[in-house]
Amino acid sequence: MHGLMMRMPLMISSLIRHADRFHGDTEIVSRSIEGPIHRYSWHGAHVRARKLARALTRLGVRAGDRVATLAWNGHRHLELYYAISGMGAIVHTVNPRLYHDQLAYIVNHADDTLVFFDLTFAPLVAKLATECKGVKAWVAMTDRAHIAPDAPATLLCYEELLGAEDDEFEWPEFDENTASGLCYTSGTTGPPKGVLFSHRSTVLHAFASSLPDAKALSAQSVVLPIVPMFHVNAWGIPYSGPLVGAKLVFPGAALDGKSLYELFESERVTTSAGVPTVWLGLVHYMKQNDLRLSTLKMTTIGGAACPPALLHTLQDDYGIRVMHAWGMTEMSPMGTTATLKGKHLDRPASERNEVSLKQGRPLYGVDMQIVDEDGNALPHDGQHAGNLLVRGPWIACGYYGDDGDPTVDGWFPTGDVATIDADGYLRLTDRAKDVIKSGGEWISSIDLENIAMGHPAVAEAAVIGVRHPKWDERPLLVVVRKPGIDVTRDALLAFYAGRTAKWWVPDDVAFVDALPHTATGKLAKRVLREQFGDYALPEEVSSTDR
Ligand code: AMP
Repeated sequence: MHGLMMRMPLMISSLIRHADRFHGDTEIVSRSIEGPIHRYSWHGAHVRARKLARALTRLGVRAGDRVATLAWNGHRHLELYYAISGMGAIVHTVNPRLYHDQLAYIVNHADDTLVFFDLTFAPLVAKLATECKGVKAWVAMTDRAHIAPDAPATLLCYEELLGAEDDEFEWPEFDENTASGLCYTSGTTGPPKGVLFSHRSTVLHAFASSLPDAKALSAQSVVLPIVPMFHVNAWGIPYSGPLVGAKLVFPGAALDGKSLYELFESERVTTSAGVPTVWLGLVHYMKQNDLRLSTLKMTTIGGAACPPALLHTLQDDYGIRVMHAWGMTEMSPMGTTATLKGKHLDRPASERNEVSLKQGRPLYGVDMQIVDEDGNALPHDGQHAGNLLVRGPWIACGYYGDDGDPTVDGWFPTGDVATIDADGYLRLTDRAKDVIKSGGEWISSIDLENIAMGHPAVAEAAVIGVRHPKWDERPLLVVVRKPGIDVTRDALLAFYAGRTAKWWVPDDVAFVDALPHTATGKLAKRVLREQFGDYALPEEVSSTDR
């Protein structure tokens, strides 16, 4: 017997329609690429998204077509999210930080029909246009006045397209499993792979990730996503914002400490989200200038492990609650959040912080398990580390244009190595390919990096395994020092004493001016491993039995 409930498909367009109807005057504020702050409301965004859907139809976009964006976080990008998916096409958010060859590869692989781009990327587009012949038109996301006079005559102007339309457009209703968005993973090995989201997965993820134990969003929230809309949909904020009726604040291209700080303060931002590196930059700026964020209550930190020192600084010195989260592009992206349970509340601060520094427990909808090399399930005892498998309604079961099935018995292998404790908290020990295999045992590079980051002289740290004749691999600590603070190799190695097992202590330290990062802001360990491929560890340390 079926229940007697209405069958309404979960449509992305329903999110912006809801925000317009019931939070119509709630603001959306953007630092525009042209310079000034742009301000309108959910009502204004809905009107313009409908005009844009008409313009796309006029340009020949049909259901299922891929339409690409090369854009920062801003109101026009938001309109594209809704217009493209809402009309039944697929918004392909392209990460402009990828290598040029990868960019051309994914635009061609996705067979994008149109590409919308922010002015910042005009030089990139000029080059791409010669390599991506399948693209029918390139659209500059600005008004005519800001388009260079010598731009190709075929270049279209976003504001002109919208200016020619009215907002008479009814969002179509169709199967909720229809593809809505496409995002390529940065592809550390092999070519990038396209993760294809659906209306259903996107709406369910927006629901779950807004809950109090996740991003804790409400109609009182003022949310500034620092994480880019080209990096897994800014972790879903453009969808959960209208779902709860929050005010959104978009930082555009200005992601330096000063610009972010000013926007946080002027718009009275209450909650945010970003990778650890941007927070390190913001904290550095605040410290230097003796400033505090007066309205920010919490932030989501994920994409890479949150260094303990950063969590302590934000929580203890600035009173900003850190919600450490883990996920991946293939998970839309949120999988777990490290929020406390009721039983943790009266525990000592040090114990609470220990929980908050884990990658967290699953949101409802996400199931996970760890297995050994042979696929046998490992106990959830917080001790056994194994390959992490996940499943759920917003987790990928394949890649766009690829016949292979990445799943194993219905589970998606994350490529992460983790422990899970009895309370369900996940603790990532490594990416499977970054784990340091020393004498048959595994050493967690993340743990060693976190310790180094706690040293006052360390600005950034990476730990990689380098070849060792006896132990296979031994850890090498690669460090960027804070400007003006000196520290020796021996002092850094001594800092590990009592903080980790003796045999885990790195064998050596290499000082560098900067560490390589991937297009999504993570440490590029593969590049680093190549760079230090022939590194000779000091004799006296490497020959010591540990
Ligand atoms: P991406 O698909 O680019 O978002 O990358 C996903 C990967 O980033 C995950 O599989 C993890 O290896 C890593 N990652 C994401 N969040 C965290 C976190 N909180 N701590 C450690 N690693 C993380």
